[in-house]
Amino acid sequence: MRLNGKAALVTGGSRGIGKAICLALAENGADICIVDILDADEAVKEIEAKGVNCMARKADVTKPDAMEAVVKDVVAEFGNLSILVNNAGIARDNLLLRMSEAEWDVVLAVNLKGPFVCTKAVVRQMMRQKHGRIINISSVVGIFGNAGQANYAASKAGLIGFTKAAAKELGSRNISVNAVAPGYIMTEMTGKLDRAARERFVQNIPLTRPEMPDEKAGYAEDVAACVVFLASDSASYITGQVFPVDGGLAM
Ligand code: NDP
Repeated sequence: MRLNGKAALVTGGSRGIGKAICLALAENGADICIVDILDADEAVKEIEAKGVNCMARKADVTKPDAMEAVVKDVVAEFGNLSILVNNAGIARDNLLLRMSEAEWDVVLAVNLKGPFVCTKAVVRQMMRQKHGRIINISSVVGIFGNAGQANYAASKAGLIGFTKAAAKELGSRNISVNAVAPGYIMTEMTGKLDRAARERFVQNIPLTRPEMPDEKAGYAEDVAACVVFLASDSASYITGQVFPVDGGLAM
């Protein structure tokens, strides 16, 4: 699983699943660049403590100029850009009839346009290297839908289509593109769900861990482990796939 000498750009890496992904990639030797609209100082310190290089850029994933500048900085600093994790994502839940155009637009912009912008920004460099790993963080909601999340489900389903199209386009350049679809993972995002929504998810999760019989939710580290696998040489013959990390929720 060693990723020594490889640089990874992780969007939304300052907290939650993104931060766990950064730490797990760093644990395996990758240098990290966090892109977030939030301050990432704390995350940078934790990542550097793993003995790798880490930089952070405050940027919006929907802005092509900003993302191209970040990619230039990463290549100048680390000498390569081998892994892109499109993780930044937001939710603005509402019932369809109440959902505003603004709630629709902002979720589609960050969750779907963002990965398009970031992928486009890294691909030329990956083509030059003849190597690249792009990992998109979708959601089980993009597979089975969810009431009150029409915007979010559409963005995450769209990301799966994007993953497959990009995998077909970029495969001949040794760039793989895969998606991870987390289920119900404990983060600040799911902390905002109401109790009924939380219970709906939890009661449909088959897998129980003996050490935590009352806790069916997953952890950011569960998602990060799958991302590390997809970024590693062990996954060099896998592309265009969607990997649920959900305790069986999406079955
Ligand atoms: P968090 O909200 O904890 O973290 C997301 C990070 O992305 C935040 O720091 C956020 O900043 C940042 N971000 C938001 N918009 C932008 C932007 N335009 N440009 C750069 N950074 C941005 O989310 P999670 O860790 O829970 O989720 C990570 C990913 O996993 C998301 O794509 C989410 O949809 C997906 N996911 C999560 C699940 C879960 O159960 N938690 C389940 C399935 C999928 P800010 O807070 O300021 O918006």
